[in-house]
Amino acid sequence: MSKHIARKRFGQNFLVDQQVIADIVNAVAPQRGDCVVEIGPGLGALTDPLVKRLDHLQVVEIDRDIIARLKKRYPAEKLTIHEGDALTFDFGALTSQSGVQMHIVGNLPYNISTPLLFHLAGFAEQVRDMHFMLQKEVVERMVAMPGTNDFGRLSVMLQYRFVMDWLLDVPPESFEPAPKVDSAVVRLIPRPAAELTVRDEPRFAALVSAAFGQRRKMLRNNLKGILDDTAFAALGILPTARAEDLSVEDYIRIANSLQ
Ligand code: SAM
Repeated sequence: MSKHIARKRFGQNFLVDQQVIADIVNAVAPQRGDCVVEIGPGLGALTDPLVKRLDHLQVVEIDRDIIARLKKRYPAEKLTIHEGDALTFDFGALTSQSGVQMHIVGNLPYNISTPLLFHLAGFAEQVRDMHFMLQKEVVERMVAMPGTNDFGRLSVMLQYRFVMDWLLDVPPESFEPAPKVDSAVVRLIPRPAAELTVRDEPRFAALVSAAFGQRRKMLRNNLKGILDDTAFAALGILPTARAEDLSVEDYIRIANSLQ
């Protein structure tokens, strides 16, 4: 088969470092009968070892040339290929019948990683765990602590839903072609329902979005029309604070205080 030319628009940087591949698969620790979904299998760097360790694997891939290769390489009993865009893919449909929680894995296309993480957060209830290779700077934002520059909407929304572990740093040379940025592997495990104390999630999401709307501005400005000075005082939060000064817990309290 002719050599595949990496497509930039699909964020194609293929993993070639066998040690990194082994480390990721060992972190995923797949058990034969697990329901595992890989996003963006590409030329199969992770797909191959996953298929070997599983009865069956499902993948979501957008690139038609790659899909044709995958179809030739793996029998349908071993691999189900969902052709399409992971950003709009209904991951929930993969487990709604069996009720089994899925493991999601992927060396994600970096150009869509942030919206993809928000999309995936919507399926947390059906997810056992997720392991992703991402641009290191995105992982920094995911696990950032309040009061730091990296702490933002992504940090609050993901830390509310998941416990996250930074597993591995990966240099550009581990890929072909080498990306211009450093990468890292992160694990996300959904928090148990009892820890999810937000009463109205869309309202929580809208609040966090508004708070970080203009990072330089005080919360009093960003939350105009949502929270007045009396409400700030009742919550014990300074209206002059900036969005990154509040904790995830503070955002939960504010959201739950809104009528
Ligand atoms: N897993 C392979 C590896 O580790 O070598 C490929 C990783 S490459 C960084 C990203 C993969 O995601 C490519 O196969 C690309 O075609 C695919 N992809 C890009 N955008 C996608 C999307 N919106 N939905 C599904 N797959 C996508």
